[in-house]
Amino acid sequence: MADDFNLLSNDAFRDRWRMWLQANYPEEWRIPIIYRLAGDDERRWHRMTYEAGWRAPAWPKEYGGLGLSLEKQLIMHQEMEGHNCARVLDSGAVLLAPVLMKYGTQEQRDRYLPPILRGEELWCQGYSEPNSGSDLASLRTSAVLEGDEFVINGQKIWTTLAAYADRIFVLVRTNNDVKKQAGISFVLADMGTPGLTVRPIMNLADEDELCEIFFDDVRIPAENLVGELNQGWTVAKALLGDERIANGAPSLSRQAFDVLEQLVDGIGLTEDIGQTDRMAQLYCDIHDLAALHAQVADAAIRGEIDNAGLGLMKVLATDLFQRVSDELLNTAGEDAGLRTPVGIGGVELDLRKIYMIARPSTIYAGANEVQRNIAANMLMGTTAK
Ligand SMILES: Cc1cc2nc3c(=O)[nH]c(=O)nc-3n(C[C@H](O)[C@H](O)[C@H](O)COP(=O)(O)OP(=O)(O)OC[C@H]3O[C@@H](n4cnc5c(N)ncnc54)[C@H](O)[C@@H]3O)c2cc1C
Repeated sequence: MADDFNLLSNDAFRDRWRMWLQANYPEEWRIPIIYRLAGDDERRWHRMTYEAGWRAPAWPKEYGGLGLSLEKQLIMHQEMEGHNCARVLDSGAVLLAPVLMKYGTQEQRDRYLPPILRGEELWCQGYSEPNSGSDLASLRTSAVLEGDEFVINGQKIWTTLAAYADRIFVLVRTNNDVKKQAGISFVLADMGTPGLTVRPIMNLADEDELCEIFFDDVRIPAENLVGELNQGWTVAKALLGDERIANGAPSLSRQAFDVLEQLVDGIGLTEDIGQTDRMAQLYCDIHDLAALHAQVADAAIRGEIDNAGLGLMKVLATDLFQRVSDELLNTAGEDAGLRTPVGIGGVELDLRKIYMIARPSTIYAGANEVQRNIAANMLMGTTAK
């Protein structure tokens, strides 16, 4: 049985996690930004952390998690960044589990939480549709109750890592005759259900992480409904406050800046005044973002959730990540056009991939334009769209 990490001082806790990472984190995964754990690697990571007593830091202990304070969860993120760990999505533990804990039945919690904890079942998030992204409430994938089953028809898109997932949580329309938010339900489906087809979309980074999912008369048990029928909008919004703090972290910008420094060293531009000037600006902006992040995190640790601040932090963090990756390409000159890693100053740098990973960051987790509108409305007390 793991110790109660909340009893350790922050420094002692940090040392303990750092030492564990140093001793156990697979060397081949230490490719920050570029590498994201998927499929068997992701399962292996969850299994490793589960067996070593580090799995599910945010989950309450009654569900097998660590029940860690937010402060200690953030320390874990910081140390993973410092160790150059790969990105990991963990939709089951991070997105679905809090929903099941709040709205699921005891049977659903008993059935789904333990395999997530042990890394045996991976989940994906089926919200967006071809014409329903920012305006998610307009979604049209339908689920009709027939006896003790729902029959689902429609299409989802941009579903991250769907091709590697065992299960999906889906927003479906269960009533067309009411205000659009009032006719949505939240259901769970096995990816192997007949009629459910996954088609990966190859993106500009040469990755097939994003997928389309087609539902053709997909039958799922009615007991896979989470929360009340037609209350899916409320269920879907059930909160990820802590995760939004991670989304606004300066980690990706900082790691891309490290690559920029290696590049500048490698091609001998350290004395170039224009280059130094642009880098100083980026460095200061990363520093400012880190300060804002620490401030919002401190407030959250005290229990004060600043929703406008969280949204704006996501906007700033992703805009900055893009600016650093733009600078990477500008600095690399003609090498920026290569589709393979670039060998500069004795190191291999995959500049194009970093750039391509930065591009969509202003779209997912709430498009930045929409986040700006929300923050403006909150700050000004208006309700304009
Ligand atoms: C890398 C990546 C991973 C994703 N993973 C998932 C996933 O796992 N599961 C899932 O369900 N979805 C996922 N998505 C989808 C994502 O949630 C949507 O792309 C996002 O909500 C935007 O919706 P959209 O693509 O339909 O664009 P639209 O909503 O059509 O927006 C297009 C443009 O219009 C702007 N716009 C839209 N509405 C407004 C407004 N009211 N005011 C101002 N500007 C506006 C947007 O900012 C954007 O620039 C992912 C997307 C990406 C890029």
